[in-house]
This record gives sequence, structure tokens and C-alpha cells, in this order.
Amino acid sequence: MDSQNHHQLHFVLFPLMAPGHFIPMVDMAKLLAQHGVTVTVITTPLIAARLRPTINRATASGLPIRLLHLPFPSVAAGLPEGCESFDDITSPNLVNNFVVAIDMLQQSFEQLFELLEPKPSCMIADKHIPWVAESGRKFQLPTIIFHVMSCFTLLCVHNLCVSKVYESVSGSEPFMLPGLPDAIEVTKSQLPRSIGPSSLIMQDFEARVRAVEEQAYGMVVNSFEELEPRYVNGFRKIKERLWCIGPPSQCNKDNLDKAQRGNKASIDENQCLKWLDTQEQGSVVYACLGSLSSLTPAQLVELGFGLELSKRPFVWVIRSGDKAEEIDKWMEEDEFQKRTKERGLIIRGWAPQVLILDHPAVGAFLTHCGWNSILEGVCAGVPMITWPQFAEQFLTEKLVVKVLETGVSVGAQAVVNLFEEDNFAVLMKREAIMKAVDEVMDEGIKGEERRKRARDLAEMAKRAVEEGGSSYLNIRLLIQDVMQQLKDNGPNENHNSS
Ligand code: UDP
Repeated sequence: MDSQNHHQLHFVLFPLMAPGHFIPMVDMAKLLAQHGVTVTVITTPLIAARLRPTINRATASGLPIRLLHLPFPSVAAGLPEGCESFDDITSPNLVNNFVVAIDMLQQSFEQLFELLEPKPSCMIADKHIPWVAESGRKFQLPTIIFHVMSCFTLLCVHNLCVSKVYESVSGSEPFMLPGLPDAIEVTKSQLPRSIGPSSLIMQDFEARVRAVEEQAYGMVVNSFEELEPRYVNGFRKIKERLWCIGPPSQCNKDNLDKAQRGNKASIDENQCLKWLDTQEQGSVVYACLGSLSSLTPAQLVELGFGLELSKRPFVWVIRSGDKAEEIDKWMEEDEFQKRTKERGLIIRGWAPQVLILDHPAVGAFLTHCGWNSILEGVCAGVPMITWPQFAEQFLTEKLVVKVLETGVSVGAQAVVNLFEEDNFAVLMKREAIMKAVDEVMDEGIKGEERRKRARDLAEMAKRAVEEGGSSYLNIRLLIQDVMQQLKDNGPNENHNSS
């Protein structure tokens, strides 16, 4: 792809142990390697096993990528054996143990780092690994953090933390997001839990994450400039060294690469494509709420009814953790599958999401507004039905619905608790889900305009990663910057300066 050969450059990538973080990091590894940089991805053994087919295909195609793993101290940190990824967590109490396990990794990471050949030129790490800046300093390397969120969200969070405007409002009282080029309202109940009061342990963790952000040499953002130009420029005023290199999922060109991202799909991809082939173009609603959200059985039932009432064909992904037995029982007793079998494909477990979204039969994406899912929907050129759940997802919903105008909200009001069945969360009713699906699939002018905007964004996304596109050029700028750093600071011998 790139005529220049940067084989002397070696980037070490260290993702957070969560699908929404290691999937785009591996895609980014491929993009960097296409520019001739040697890339090493370091992760835990079980995540490495999930990623190996992708990495093997990449190396077989000639890309200089290597996958290494470190033993993850699950049991020593009080986690169940084999719990190595956030999607293995079954209770909110285990989050603290997971943070402890990540802390325990530092020593073995640094020991491995010291042995790496060729000597690393820089490290791109997730900001949620709170010791990466310290390790980077020890090895005298630029530490660049990887953001899996939009510049819109980054700017919102920055402005909220500076202004603290949310402190003087009640939970459900709408207020204007400060300092944005668009007038957008939000409520305190919709803000990520990292803003505002939280437990002492989490406060400490968030403070360490903020310190990583402040100390980082620069930031790589999983977005692209044309998607949100005013917000990229706005955030660049705050963080000067910022490279938008996405959407990284665009590096997956063939069906196998699209189907096997971050996990083995629980449906045969050919069976899935065959089913989609039988549906009319633009008719199918694809419903998937990401790798972590866990809906209550009652909420899953409402979602099922909402899809049924919409009278559209649908693909519905039900996570393995989502009380599968209870849902199976309901489906059987209620004869849900019998009634919808002609037009509903249910995937229990891991869906080949990008493969599905890219199929011409898909006409809309019902999403929880995880940033990867949103970008994947943007690349597929489909409008979205937005149902945010946790973290920054309500802010992302605002970007999709109010700024890009490619989505319709189901009307969720407040963030839910992650990793637990939030029985206190307000039930999203089937009628609200059906109404949002109807609005997005509407064949009138408004629906057509929304679809056109979505198609235009998909074109921009494609161009951004092609040779000469904005993200392609940003990757080159990032590489040049790291090269300049090495020149200015002399060859890095990796001496541990601590
Ligand atoms: N994903 C997938 N199949 C699934 C669930 C998720 O391929 O059944 C992928 C999805 O394509 C995306 C990632 O997992 O790349 C989820 O990241 P996102 O930021 O959308 O949400 P999160 O799971 O972090 O909440």
C-alpha cells in the first residue's frame, strides 16, 4: 500500500481487555502494517486465541504483525479462572478485581517489552491501563493513547469536566452541553458514570486514567475527520497531537475478515449470508447491543415484541450472558419464533456484525451506540435506531441523532448499570421500539433524506482510509512524527531508566 518502507519502525500496541477495544486495535495494527511499520500486539492468552485467526491471515498476506501474550493474573486478583476480558465479567463487584489484575500485569509487561526486537519505537496503549505512561517513561518512548470514541464525545467530556455545569442540575433536568458548535441538550442521568460522583476505588481509577491522558505524547482517535470536522478541530485545540485514523474496520475486505473479528461467530457466516440473500434490499433491521450490555429478560422480551410489531425482517443478536435460558423459555411458550420464523434470524452469542451490516439487505441498525458499532454502521451506510445503555453512549447518540442526523432515538432516558441486571431501569416499551424502527424505515422524504445522509457518510468513510484520504494521511503523519522523535532523541536502546 505505502511505497515507503518503515521496517525499522516498531510500534507496540497494548489494548484494553474488552472487545470494543481490542477489535479496533487489531484493525489499526493492520492499517499501520500496511504502511510498512512492524507491529506487535500484546494481550492476554485467551484474547490472543480469539485474535489469532485474524493475525494469522494478516501475516500470511505479508503484513509485519506479531501477536504476543502475557499470563493474566485472574485468580491472583480474585477473578474466576479464565476471566480475561470485560465480556467475561458477570458481576459489577468483579470490576475492581479486574483493575487489580491489570495493575499486576505491569511487571511482566515491562519484562517482555525489554526483550522485544527490533527495539520498539513507540507504544500505542489504551488509556484504561493506568500504568502505560509510567512504562513509556521508563523505556524513554513516546506513549500514545488510543481513544475508542468520537472527537464529539471527547470534546463533550472535556467541556463537562472543566465547566462542571452538571453539578447544579437535577438528574432529569435537560441542560445545554457547554462549548459546542451545535446546541445540544442532555440530562445528568445520561452522562457517563466517570463524570460526577462514583465509588472511591473508581474515583482513584478515573484519576489515574486522566493522568495517563495528560501525560501521553499524543492521541490516536478511532474516527475520521470528515465525519465530525468541527469537533475534530475543536478537540485539536485542546490536544494538539491528535491523529484520526479510522474507521479501522474498513481494513477488512473479504468475508472471512469481516466475519471473524474478535471472536468466533456463533452462526456459520454462509448460513447468515444465505438468509440475508433471501431478503429484499434495505428491508432488514439488524439489532445488536454490543459485547457488554446485559438487558433484563423483561427488557429482552419487549425488544422481541418491538421487532415483531415493526413487521420488518430482522436479525436479532442475543448475547450468551443475556439469560439465554429464560429467553428460550419465553420464545417457546409464547411461540415467538414460530410467529416470526419467516422473517426473523436470531443469533445467540457472537454475531459476524460487519459481515451482516455490509449486506445490501440490511436497511437499519438498532444499536446501543457503542462507538465501534456506530462507525461500522456509518461504513455500511445504514441509518440507525439508537438505544444507548452505559458509558458515553448517550453522548454518541446525540452525535448520531442531532449532528449527523442519521439516527432516530428509541427514547432511553438514563444510563444503566453495567454487568448487572438493572431491574430499576425504566423498561423501554415495545411500542417505542416499533415507533423508532418505523420512523427509520419510513419510505417518505424524511426517511429517504436520512438514508442519503447515511450513504454519503459511508462514501466519506471509504475515502478516508484509501490512499490519499484523511485517515491514510494521518497515519503517515503519525509515523513521520514518531520517526522525528527518534531522530531528535537519538536511537532508542530501550535502557530502563528507572
Ligand atoms: N461485535 C461483534 N459481534 C457481536 C457483538 C459485538 O462483532 O455479537 C463487535 C462489534 O462489531 C464491535 C465490537 O464488537 O466492533 C463492540 O464494540 P462497541 O464499541 O460497539 O460496543 P461495546 O461492546 O464496547 O459496548
